Amino acid sequence: MAIRREDPVTSLRGVGAKLGAALAKAGIVAVGDLLLHLPQRYQDRTRFVPLAEVELGQSCLVRGEVVRAEAGFGRRRAFTATLHEGGGYLTLRFFHHTAHQRELLRPGVWLSCFGEVRAGPAGREMVHPEYRAAKARPERAEETQTPVYGTAGGVSGARLRAFIEQALDGGAAQGGSVMPAGSSPEERREASFPRFDEAVAFLHRPAADATAAQLEAARARIVADELAAHYLLLRERRAERQRHAARALPRGQGLGRELLRNLPFPLTRAQRRAIADVLKDLEQERPALRLLQGDVGAGKTIVAAFAAIRAAEHGCQTAVMAPTELLVEQHYESFSAWLAPLGIEVSAITGRLAAAERQSRLEGIARGDALVVLGTHALFQSAVAFRALALTIVDEQHRFGVQQRMQLRHKGRLPHQLIMTATPIPRTLTMALYADMDVSVIDEMPPGRKPVTTSATPGARRHEVIARVGAWCGEGRQAYWVCTAIEEAEDGALPAGAAAPSQAAESVAAALQAALPQLTVGLAHGRLPSRERSDVMARFKAGEIDVLVATTVVEVGVDVPNASLMVIDNPERLGLAQLHQLRGRVGRGSEQSHCILLFEPPLSQLARRRLAAMRATNDGFVIAEQDLKLRGPGDVLGTRQTGEQAFRVAHLMRDAALIPKVVALAEKLDAPARAAVLATWGGTVEAGYVEV
Ligand code: ADP
Ligand code: MG
Repeated sequence: MAIRREDPVTSLRGVGAKLGAALAKAGIVAVGDLLLHLPQRYQDRTRFVPLAEVELGQSCLVRGEVVRAEAGFGRRRAFTATLHEGGGYLTLRFFHHTAHQRELLRPGVWLSCFGEVRAGPAGREMVHPEYRAAKARPERAEETQTPVYGTAGGVSGARLRAFIEQALDGGAAQGGSVMPAGSSPEERREASFPRFDEAVAFLHRPAADATAAQLEAARARIVADELAAHYLLLRERRAERQRHAARALPRGQGLGRELLRNLPFPLTRAQRRAIADVLKDLEQERPALRLLQGDVGAGKTIVAAFAAIRAAEHGCQTAVMAPTELLVEQHYESFSAWLAPLGIEVSAITGRLAAAERQSRLEGIARGDALVVLGTHALFQSAVAFRALALTIVDEQHRFGVQQRMQLRHKGRLPHQLIMTATPIPRTLTMALYADMDVSVIDEMPPGRKPVTTSATPGARRHEVIARVGAWCGEGRQAYWVCTAIEEAEDGALPAGAAAPSQAAESVAAALQAALPQLTVGLAHGRLPSRERSDVMARFKAGEIDVLVATTVVEVGVDVPNASLMVIDNPERLGLAQLHQLRGRVGRGSEQSHCILLFEPPLSQLARRRLAAMRATNDGFVIAEQDLKLRGPGDVLGTRQTGEQAFRVAHLMRDAALIPKVVALAEKLDAPARAAVLATWGGTVEAGYVEV
């Protein structure tokens, strides 16, 4: 019976409800999804390798006649059979064997076997090969290469292979995406795989003589399709958003100009450009969605302030979301300092507010007195009532993960949205991953910043580092000492022998205080009550604390310009992007800053490369490119949590070069073609609006 790609996987023989549910977890719902589960590699069973020619380490198909078979003695009674053909011999060794096997593999029987050739006690052998017995010399090898699949949803690759075979035999590879292989007729003619479905069929059943280059071309064909689907999905979301109305916020009474006059520093050119972009967005009647990228310390907050002022000039409210309470409080200070003199009321809702105060602030927001409202993301999801919300600003977007595409909605309208991230994203990736947004980049640091110098010191020299902290702070400067997190298991359990980061921080703080009694040592970690943590941060900011021992909670957004030395304990545990974010906490003043990576040898090769990259550059974009090379895009983009950019086939690092071409192609598709591409890849436009 014909099987179509739209059919549910459960329509395949042998796939019941339970298996269907397991596959669905891996995103395999329709037969077409199953066909996108591509082989990891291939085995060549298309020819018999003569026994005399097999090489050690080679996985191959062989044939021969059993000339000897014997079960050994002792505890590990291996069963061995010796194959012979044309002057060559090969031993087959079975550590587990059944009576049936011993009966079958007796002298005189012909076998075809597939397995890896290893060195055994009696020469070359295969351990537990796959085999097929025959009465006579087997003549036919496989016609196509044999695909090897990875598991999906806990279903083994071997089982998946059987289901995929069934689907292919039923003709399910036909149809699907209709994206052309190139935009010009010549390109299409030259493309090795003009059609998507041909490429899919080829990858599952490559001909005996298929070359690595042909396989790669077929894969590239599918990757292009997937990237196009992703791009189109984001464009659809953009179009869907633009069908909504937003409050247009044209130029007002010039409060922004006043802030500009009050600022103690001139804006950088990049900041002025970004502000112009954002203000232009706000003038439109369509809800804007802009991503503002800028390395740590580039000065993104002030851009947000100008946007909030524009809304306030129209009596409209702005919600500013930050990932931590610490950051909310810091923003509260900055926004108050900038906006209060202009007569704009700023309000923050934090966990440390007393109930009555919280209530009174919420009322102020509902009345529309407070025009700029700061809080954590959780706060806004639990519905703060606004009177006139026209703009939402999300700071440190990479910390929110999936929420990046969630949009607040107010009285049926969508507020304009500004999203800020310190994660530098290579340009080509931006095209594919943020196609639903406009993008501004602050690619320039405020003047006078001195690049942080970074050194790596082994843990054996910890006492020297402590002495250096003492000397540093003795001159009125401040320092961070960061204790890194060991990944906790899902149930919160730690690997044997590992201390929780909060514990590590506590013991480091105690040790520092003991070694440097003349200094004030503070402690901030995620397990402290938020009130206590904010107090410590406030005292650090005010200069009352000399050394702040902290977990990576300081990673995000904290701004204390007088802190100019950072020690990172066990930096080998962190990814490059996170190390860079951490280091961004220093180098914010006019003082020369230092970062000491206090590592514990021996370093893995990956860790060594990361630390070397940290020492080599301060440039976030260079770091991002490096990180992309070392680890793949998940960590660079902070998208591991989102799952949203979990591509089935594409690997952004490997395939980044395809992106511009794919975008150009996708742009040319007509509506039915777009729909076919999206359907093939299971894309649905979910707007995800939350009413506040
Ligand atoms: P980030 O982009 O990491 O959010 P911030 O907005 O926190 O950076 O700015 C970092 C520091 O630089 C703050 O102390 C801010 O006041 C200061 N700053 C911002 N813009 C400028 C500028 N143009 N010149 C000098 N200092 C600036
Ligand atoms: Mg910031």
